[in-house]
Amino acid sequence: MLIAYLSETQKRSLGQLTQISSYEPGQFMVLDPFTRRNLELVETVRERSKRGSLLWLLDRTETSMGARLLRRWIDKPLLQRSRIEDRLEAVDHLYNQYILREDLRMALKEIYDLERLVGRIAFGSANGRDMNALKLSLRQVPALKQLCGDSGSATLRSLAEATDVCEDLCSLIEDAVADDPPVSVRDGGIIKPGYHERLDELREASTNGKRWIAELEARERVATGIKSLKIGYNKVFGYYIEVTKSNLSSLPEGRYERKQTLANAERFVTPELKEKEGLILEAQEKMVDLEYALFTELREKLNAQIARLQKLAENIAEIDVYQSLAAVSAEHRFVKPELSDGYDLMVEGGRHPVVEAVMKDSAFIANGTELKKEGSSILLITGPNMAGKSTYMRQVALLSIMAQIGCFVPAERAALPLVDRIFTRIGAADDLIGGQSTFMVEMADIQVMTEKATPRSLIIIDELGRGTSTSEGMAIAQAVIEYVHDHIGCKALVSTHFHELAHLSESLPGLRNFSMAVQESGDKVHFLRKLIPGAADSSYGIYCARLAGLPGSIIDRAYGLLQGLEQASLSAVVGKGGVQTAAAEEARKLPHPVSKESPAEFASGLPGHGGGEIINDTVLQDDGGVVQLSIFGEDEMRPGKGTDDAMKTSGVRAGAPDPRMKEIMDALKSVDVMNMTPLQAMQLLNELKQKANRL
Ligand code: ADP
Repeated sequence: MLIAYLSETQKRSLGQLTQISSYEPGQFMVLDPFTRRNLELVETVRERSKRGSLLWLLDRTETSMGARLLRRWIDKPLLQRSRIEDRLEAVDHLYNQYILREDLRMALKEIYDLERLVGRIAFGSANGRDMNALKLSLRQVPALKQLCGDSGSATLRSLAEATDVCEDLCSLIEDAVADDPPVSVRDGGIIKPGYHERLDELREASTNGKRWIAELEARERVATGIKSLKIGYNKVFGYYIEVTKSNLSSLPEGRYERKQTLANAERFVTPELKEKEGLILEAQEKMVDLEYALFTELREKLNAQIARLQKLAENIAEIDVYQSLAAVSAEHRFVKPELSDGYDLMVEGGRHPVVEAVMKDSAFIANGTELKKEGSSILLITGPNMAGKSTYMRQVALLSIMAQIGCFVPAERAALPLVDRIFTRIGAADDLIGGQSTFMVEMADIQVMTEKATPRSLIIIDELGRGTSTSEGMAIAQAVIEYVHDHIGCKALVSTHFHELAHLSESLPGLRNFSMAVQESGDKVHFLRKLIPGAADSSYGIYCARLAGLPGSIIDRAYGLLQGLEQASLSAVVGKGGVQTAAAEEARKLPHPVSKESPAEFASGLPGHGGGEIINDTVLQDDGGVVQLSIFGEDEMRPGKGTDDAMKTSGVRAGAPDPRMKEIMDALKSVDVMNMTPLQAMQLLNELKQKANRL
């Protein structure tokens, strides 16, 4: 069906499709499109350029088919350990043999895009130059085969053994096609002399004819004494003798037949000249036809051997990719990863290959990673913006991918398990065209993750829950982390600027806190880019705003506000400590009570219970304390969660629920958020607000 579809739509020969190979999704690491994009495997997120991507870094291929294969390998990292080990073995040998690598590169450099040439042969559009490109490429193959055979690598040796040098095809072209053929295949000049007897005879006839004409010209100049007399040719009149007007008087009357008059010359013919012309043109016509026939015959012969050429192209591509991976690995001091079928991942001195490669002025700071089944399957990384969290997390994912495509990895040592799937939830990726907001995209990603992740997967979550209110964001982040810990059990790296989540390490035995070290000196913060155990205690958000060049007045005002908010939040904790501690105790995993966020968000995030029936309103008192107000009577509240007590201690007004309020609540409850467009959500919000205003 597929081939029928292609022939219907492509309207061309599909001769180059010689086999169908089956594809088992289980053979490859699964990477969803977002993850591919986030990890910048083949293009960067912002500019969508190859420069700055992993492919850009690893691509030192010399041939087009090598470049394409490398891209395919990056697209589909392997899951089968033996196959990866085979690739690594080849890279290892080339890594250690600079001269061999250079020799291979020299040979590969001369090889044209065989896959494209094969396509042109199959389609019948290959011309003489394509044939010569194929010939020049094939000439390199014996050397390539020899180099691989002698490399000492079992993988390269078996590739060499499986390589058919296609010598017969090379000599076929060598014998037939001229060294510098024209682009067109219909004008002759393609076939070499000595290839075909009849063609040689015709050529002889044509050359003889032309020689005769040259001699005639010389003879006539002498006979008439006109030095400027010349014999020319054009398509309409054929061969003619041309005499300028000024010389016409010297021409004996009746010597030639008049054919054409120009402004300053006359053109003539003779019966003899016409006869020779006939012979020459006939020979030429036959020659061109014959050459075309011979060339098509050659093309057909090659067409019948396409499968051999394709196989050869594949082998060359593979050799090219090995030398490319080895060259990059050697240049950037990558090491061979130790692969295991186990769970634990251990990296010493890991680096982000691309960030390191583009850094010019300073050195990349290496960081280790330890993700173990027992005690540290999840790393919760806190630290300010710009501290290097994203870079670090991507680095871990990239190491896994690089290892599983068969490349060395940027580290001092890396013991890596085979990862079946990598999920990333990184940064803002609004799918505006798809009608989804950042937050919705984020949640949809998380949904896929919860559904598909296995214990062998690797999850990377960068700044979860940013797209909603602080308290909700924090609650979602915590709930997701707990789910990964309790239900999926895979390795995960989670970064967050909610440093309040650090307390999770107390309730989740597999979670460990890390942070990106910063050094404060005076009012300056220095990013050390070093991953250290323990959680960060500040987000340095305002500091980053200053780095970004925001006006000083905004920065000063922000610091002032922050101070006020922190005090308010502290006094809220002190004042209502009993309430909040009870609530926090109850929901074992709710946030740490000391928040740097606004008291309103902070307090509303506390005894939420996820039931959705209770909405707490928060009022900041003059003295800086917080009073939590219920919008329902106590009878509406859930018993037994500490909320009743909370309301009592905070002086809550109680009463019968307002029916209009109920209406709002009902509307809210029935909302199917996951299936709304941002616009619909905005509309709904607007309606609810108007209803609330009328209360
Ligand atoms: P965060 O996610 O914490 O906001 P990023 O990972 O985006 O921070 O890092 C910010 C910048 O810091 C990067 O663009 C990179 O240039 C630099 N950087 C990150 N990690 C390192 C490192 N280990 N060594 C040197 N520079 C780094």
